[in-house]
Amino acid sequence: MKFFLAAVLIVALVLIGYYCYKTWKEKHRLSRIVGQILPVGWLIVFVNLISLLTTSEVICSITYSIYFVATDWIAYLLLKFSIDYAGSKFGQYVKKRLMLALLILDSVSVLLNTVFGHLFRLHPVILFGNESYYELVPSPFFYIHYIIIMMLVAFCLITLFYCSAKAPVFYRKKYFLIGLMTSAIVILNIFTFSSAVDVSVIGYAVEGICIYYCALVYTPQKLLQKTMFQVTQNMSVSLFVLDSEGKRIYSNKCAEQLLDREKPVTDIDGVPIEQWCSNRYLNYNEQFIEEQTFYRGEEEMILKIQLQRVTDAKQHLQGGYFVIQDRTEEMNHLKEEQYLATHDSLTGLYNKEKFCKESKKYIRKYPELEFLVICVDIKDFKMMKDALGTKIADIVLKNTARMLKEDLKGGVVHGRIGNDVFAVLMPKKNFKEEFFEEQTSEDYLKGAGEEFAFPVVSHVGIFEVTERDLSVSVMCDRARMAISTIKGDYHKRIAYYDEEHRKDMIREQELVRDLNKALEEGQIKMYLQPQMSVEGKLLGAEALVRWEHPEKGSIQPGEFIPLFERNGLVSDIDRYIWELACKQLKAWKELGRDDIYISVNVSPRDFYFLNVYRIFMDLVRKYGVSPKNLKLEITETAIVMDFDRQIDLITRLRRTGFIVEMDDFGSGYSSLNMLKDIHVDILKIDMAFLKKAKDEERSKKILQMVIGLAKQLGMPVITEGVENEEQVAFLTEMGCEMFQGYYFAKPMTVEEFEATYF
Ligand code: C2E
Ligand code: CA
Ligand code: CA
Repeated sequence: MKFFLAAVLIVALVLIGYYCYKTWKEKHRLSRIVGQILPVGWLIVFVNLISLLTTSEVICSITYSIYFVATDWIAYLLLKFSIDYAGSKFGQYVKKRLMLALLILDSVSVLLNTVFGHLFRLHPVILFGNESYYELVPSPFFYIHYIIIMMLVAFCLITLFYCSAKAPVFYRKKYFLIGLMTSAIVILNIFTFSSAVDVSVIGYAVEGICIYYCALVYTPQKLLQKTMFQVTQNMSVSLFVLDSEGKRIYSNKCAEQLLDREKPVTDIDGVPIEQWCSNRYLNYNEQFIEEQTFYRGEEEMILKIQLQRVTDAKQHLQGGYFVIQDRTEEMNHLKEEQYLATHDSLTGLYNKEKFCKESKKYIRKYPELEFLVICVDIKDFKMMKDALGTKIADIVLKNTARMLKEDLKGGVVHGRIGNDVFAVLMPKKNFKEEFFEEQTSEDYLKGAGEEFAFPVVSHVGIFEVTERDLSVSVMCDRARMAISTIKGDYHKRIAYYDEEHRKDMIREQELVRDLNKALEEGQIKMYLQPQMSVEGKLLGAEALVRWEHPEKGSIQPGEFIPLFERNGLVSDIDRYIWELACKQLKAWKELGRDDIYISVNVSPRDFYFLNVYRIFMDLVRKYGVSPKNLKLEITETAIVMDFDRQIDLITRLRRTGFIVEMDDFGSGYSSLNMLKDIHVDILKIDMAFLKKAKDEERSKKILQMVIGLAKQLGMPVITEGVENEEQVAFLTEMGCEMFQGYYFAKPMTVEEFEATYF
């Protein structure tokens, strides 16, 4: 029997030792206190083992003393544990210091028993035939020690049972279990502590393991289950679980809606989603995530489906679950954003970036096709917007978009690539010029309500895609470049890009770039072309600009004046030439030749950008020349543009003494009617006007009439572009008094002029 008991205790020692080791490695809130309880428990079992095996009364007495001290401390630790463990409020009532003091005193007293024997004595007995044991004979003082321990244990039990009653149902079990174990030990102990064989010792081992398990390992399964259930039920994604045969064994609320047979969600072939999933689950051996389009009636749903399989250790399928996320809204939002980023919101056409991208794809996709990039630009759009308002302007834009997309057949990609610029990519074989020629102002203004005086016209530039690797953006630029050649030509609507355009544009850009330097460095020169009387006497000269470019050589005004008129830089040149003219007049005056004048050109743009009156006044004052010697050539265009203001300005200039000449009469609007309203000093007629006409005789008659009318209005006439004697003769006969032209002399440098005429 003794050896059997010893074996049991050894097993208990090994077990407690093992759990001690595990506890020390554990990182848990309670592992410290559990790590203290277990060694003390181990000590109790150990000293009992010695007591059991020893035959010496002294050793036995010592081990018994240690055993009692250890029970003191284990009771204390248990109380501490239950307070910590259960987080109980009882902690505050336990006076720890007092208790410690009591325990220390008791421990010392118990240990001294070996010497004084004041608590207990040992009494040898023979049991189980011939096995000798020691029995404990307590003295009355022993019960003081016993009461202390019982007090601690009582506290401990109260805490545990209290918590067990109060705790949520899932936790109740563990407090109760420890409480029960402790009670069992106490009861056993009451009956056996004095007997030779104290069975309660084994209880310590069991309780130690029990504490370890409850405090550090146990998690309430039911709680977990319930929590998981709640979490999955309320998830915003659908979740359902299948068994190994593909039968659904669980689904959350979301999934139930999705799998609802009343309102079935099916794939494009009409297969219900549940079946779709089950097929996948049974027929494919892998986990997957997929995005799939499903339908509930007409409504489209984009679902992200995820399958997770559950297998056992041997990889046998046990079940699986599907997580399905409804991404419809997200995807629609994304689509909408993509749409907004790639489309023009007003017309619904592609924006420039998207147009280029799509066109590029198209051109690549059909290498056998020849393509055109067609750009359509609404003429004077800004002016129209000012005149008719934003609302009407928007209607015009929408109509243009509609016409290009619907009425114009054969276009494959359509875009609005600028404020009032549209682009179409079209296979060359589909293109018909007539479409663009037939568009009327009414087509553009359709739906605008009333009739408008402002005619809406568009210009079309076409680039033939010869180099397919060119970026579409450049192709558009080229088509637009072609448009820029139309501007000014009233009847032309369509222009094709050719390589010359590009060269011209580049050259123009270079000229714009170089102008400032040219003015600073004196590359801009004033040439003079003489103006003669009928008698062949020199009257004066017209100042004509020349640009002596260091790289490009001498450049005629025809090459740069129209360009600078477009961008307004012409005013810089004019001011420069006017100043040169005045400087020249001053020099001549000093030579005593103030009988000849210089006639300067005033561009229509100058009236916009400059205070013409002020500048001329300042110039004549600065150089001390008479206004009479400075003639100003103004074109009809300048006057027509802002009639009242121009008339007023001309009147002021004339009153100050400047001579104002109407240049190029007969080449522009040329309304004879206008002549009676504008009072200029001289009318200048260009012979080119004659040359252009097919019927020369008829033109001559008109010329005759114009000259006659001018005479009647008291306006002298000068004809320019006179190239031969015959012209001089008939012009003289018609009443023309002054001439300018190659017949007399070509424009020349000031030096040549002076050398020839002075
Ligand atoms: P424009 O004012 O009508 O000048 C007359 C043009 O006719 C000059 O051309 C002149 O060289 C040319 N011409 C003179 N006699 C004959 C002739 O017998 N036959 C032919 N075929 N042509 C003749 P240019 O110098 O090339 O100037 C062209 C235009 O450039 C000028 O036409 C004028 O509008 C403009 N321009 C020239 N210099 C200036 C300037 O300083 N300022 C401004 N704003 N424009 C200028
Ligand atoms: Ca002129
Ligand atoms: Ca002229």
